[in-house]
Amino acid sequence: MTAASKKKPAPPTGPLRCESPLSDLPRITPAKLRALREAGLVTVHDLLRHYPRRHEDRKKFPSFPRAAGPDPLCLRGTVTTTKASYFGRRMQFTLTLTENSRQVPAATVQCRWFNLRYLPKILATGQDLIIHGRPRALKKGGVVFDHPDFEVLQSDAPDSALIHLNRITPVHPSIGPWSPRMLRRLLFETLAQLPDEDIPQLWPLPPVASPSPATNPLTTANALRTIHFPSSWEELEAARAHLAREELFEMQCVLARQRARQVGGQAPVIPRQSPLLAKFLKALPFDLTAAQKRVLTRIFDDLATGHPMNRLLHGDVGSGKTVVAATAMLGAVAAGHSAALMAPTQVLAHQHYENLRKLFEPLGIPVVLRTAARKEKSDANGPRVVIGTHALLFAPQTVGRPALVVIDEQHKFGVRQRAKLSAQEPHPHVLVMSATPIPRTLALTLYGDLDLSLLDEMPPGRVPVRTLVRPHDKLAEAADFVHRQLDEGRQAYLVYPLIEESTRTSLKAATAEYERWTKLLAPHRCALLHGKLKADEKDDIMNSFRAGETRVLVSTTVIEVGIDVANATVLLVENAERFGLAQLHQLRGRVGRGAEKSWCILLAGEDAAEKLDRLQILEQATDGFAIAEADLAIRGPGDLLGTAQTGLPPVRLAKLPQDLPLLEEAREQARQLLADDPALTDHPALRTRLAYWEKQLFAGVA
Ligand code: ADP
Ligand code: MG
Repeated sequence: MTAASKKKPAPPTGPLRCESPLSDLPRITPAKLRALREAGLVTVHDLLRHYPRRHEDRKKFPSFPRAAGPDPLCLRGTVTTTKASYFGRRMQFTLTLTENSRQVPAATVQCRWFNLRYLPKILATGQDLIIHGRPRALKKGGVVFDHPDFEVLQSDAPDSALIHLNRITPVHPSIGPWSPRMLRRLLFETLAQLPDEDIPQLWPLPPVASPSPATNPLTTANALRTIHFPSSWEELEAARAHLAREELFEMQCVLARQRARQVGGQAPVIPRQSPLLAKFLKALPFDLTAAQKRVLTRIFDDLATGHPMNRLLHGDVGSGKTVVAATAMLGAVAAGHSAALMAPTQVLAHQHYENLRKLFEPLGIPVVLRTAARKEKSDANGPRVVIGTHALLFAPQTVGRPALVVIDEQHKFGVRQRAKLSAQEPHPHVLVMSATPIPRTLALTLYGDLDLSLLDEMPPGRVPVRTLVRPHDKLAEAADFVHRQLDEGRQAYLVYPLIEESTRTSLKAATAEYERWTKLLAPHRCALLHGKLKADEKDDIMNSFRAGETRVLVSTTVIEVGIDVANATVLLVENAERFGLAQLHQLRGRVGRGAEKSWCILLAGEDAAEKLDRLQILEQATDGFAIAEADLAIRGPGDLLGTAQTGLPPVRLAKLPQDLPLLEEAREQARQLLADDPALTDHPALRTRLAYWEKQLFAGVA
């Protein structure tokens, strides 16, 4: 070994590049590098995409507030007192922040933190401190900030004026040992070394709809500089919108390519007409609604092309999706193929099994049930209908290779699973059914790879469900009401939400709840249904409920989807505020399925009086999509955009539903660009990015 090779590698010379590893940056210790890597930041480019979680206006601080206020404030002052108090094992750290002003006496506010034992080591009197938080009133008078964010200024440090102060200052999410202050400096210095030409532009952005002369046209390079260190709020918003468009575009490209792959495949031709189908439709106990007929026309159009169908059938609870699916499945069987219907839960699979058997067996078509509990290999070959749970779809030895796959009530069955289905040869026709009223905004992102059909009409004769929102102290009255309905021969669902269905304590809580209701509703028979029960236990309970022997189902949310028992007329939900509106609407769909008047009683939890407002939306609204939009506006996209698990590029800057126009624009642009340049010859940066995301998409499908 030569002397030279033993030396540490020389620090890289030449300009920093976007794809440079972060280890090329000066003065980063291995531990800190590791922390960045664990957070997924490997290259300079990754670092640039670590966006601030907010910005503080540190050019001009407001004067100290005298009263509580609804908005967070960013204040600067001097620490004049500190105090740590201990209450048993609890610890409270309090400090007084005094305004730097000539006013006498100077204004002060209190700051409090609980159980942060390191604070006395880093906060001390005399410090120049910036805090960010919401001012609240102290009982004894004065203003307090509880758990504010804070930053100690080293006003004499040379970088302070330049990087941390006198500007709209970014506050980045901390990463392990990296405080926002450290990340800010790292980004500042990195951006200063990075030439603009080196920051890749995904695609040449067409001009924005409302160009502002100062910021248009934005390049990715200056949008990235601006999102971290903007010189005005307007500029910041323009940069955010630019990057939001980019991320939405990237996501839509992945979806559009996925779609193109699907559309290009081969699939069996399933004709629209056959004696079997005619016989089936004639035997149905009701006429199809106009919406059902319309949707079926579209489905059979798809099935006749020789290319795979990939269609989402969206319809509110009770709109009659099952019979649509059954008709399509029968079409496949009539053409000599098998068809499969996959449900999210075993209870639901069982219910479909019972229903489809009634429809199909008179026609001489075998229906088989495959769940985790009944996985035995099928001996029956030839056309047949298989009912199973989602999880079994990728086990061809149990479900075979159906020509048509119907996915009912998909929740966890996302883009990634559909991508995997579409990778099968031959590609099956896929019909995804959902009652989760997903707003259009999200449908575009979550189902961008599918064609969409809507069942927007209810079967005739439905009596709307009457919804009542009540505070917790009306529980006894509500119980009386349920009792009277039971006396009249009806059945009821009582839903008790569990935060964590799997833990033993919550199961205990559900059991206690169940015992309480059993007493309240005696002599009517109750049963407890929860996710931990074995499949056949669940089946037994459901069968007994369906048969009317069990009158009340006390349940966690396992009844959420699909269950259809017409004699059940009351749904009572406890701690209803723990559910989203859309989810409550789904639950509500369990009743109102027969001719009798039905009720949905939403009881708020003990401390949830102020959340009644939100629930009251459900007293008026009956349209699932309107409710979903309201829910989205209130709660934000949350999990629905949990893109980490969908395998799509993350949406970090786009705000939905506000950015819906950007999303639609992005979709159009993605389709256009991929139509013009399918191989992305002219867009190498985009090609690289998409290759990366597609690898993610196909990785890790169970
Ligand atoms: P969902 O769309 O929620 O899955 P289902 O398919 O379970 O709804 O249908 C709900 C109920 O409506 C079922 O009992 C079904 O038999 C009935 N139904 C479906 N279509 C019609 C129709 N056209 N006329 C009358 N009843 C119908
Ligand atoms: Mg259904």
